[in-house]
Amino acid sequence: MAVRAVSLDLDDTLWPVLPALIEAEHVVDRWLRQHHPDVANAWPIEAMRELREQIARDNTHLSHDFSEQRRMTIRAAFAHCGIDDAPVDELWRLYYAARNNVELYPDSLPALERIAHRVPIVSISNGNADLEIIGLHHLFHTRISAGGLGVAKPDARIFLAAAEALGIAPADILHVGDDPLLDVVGAREAGLRTVWLNRTGEAWSHGPAPDLEFPDMTHLADWVEASALTDS
Ligand SMILES: [Mg+2]
Repeated sequence: MAVRAVSLDLDDTLWPVLPALIEAEHVVDRWLRQHHPDVANAWPIEAMRELREQIARDNTHLSHDFSEQRRMTIRAAFAHCGIDDAPVDELWRLYYAARNNVELYPDSLPALERIAHRVPIVSISNGNADLEIIGLHHLFHTRISAGGLGVAKPDARIFLAAAEALGIAPADILHVGDDPLLDVVGAREAGLRTVWLNRTGEAWSHGPAPDLEFPDMTHLADWVEASALTDS
């Protein structure tokens, strides 16, 4: 199997996302305690999280757009406290900066550099990670987000958008991600080759196995280099 491009999930594939999301919630909470203590008291972190989940459930048409869900949550929290002109932009900027203050897995950057040297890399993410803020954008040919495209993984259209951007057949793209359903099953149904990046050593239990399974990005880079050699 030789591939001509790699498409790559971001959150929990290149960095653990939960620490950044939790810190972002705390950044927002600290700002509210300082500037709007009434809102902070009405919406402690856990309640704010439940409000966002409720807004997501009530707005399934925005399931691809976590950013808008967050902005709606801010508006709703302030409206509940009788404030109609919520500081949405300011709070969103604070949240977004903290959410993108991620710490890469140690294998991610060296592997990305090795892979980018061989084949184009496209990001395919349902989240709102910003590769420019994170400082990795120069390693990516194209960046595709569910929020930008209007459909989210596992919808085949987001994978086909990557193929179109590359001008490459889906079967010549290797999609790599940590999520069995969003990444492996979704990409396979769109006709891509699949890698399950299984950092936690779980057993596969989601139907037909992925084409490849690796414990980290180093193994992926090794495979890309070996298969590119075989192919040439
Ligand atoms: Mg992921």
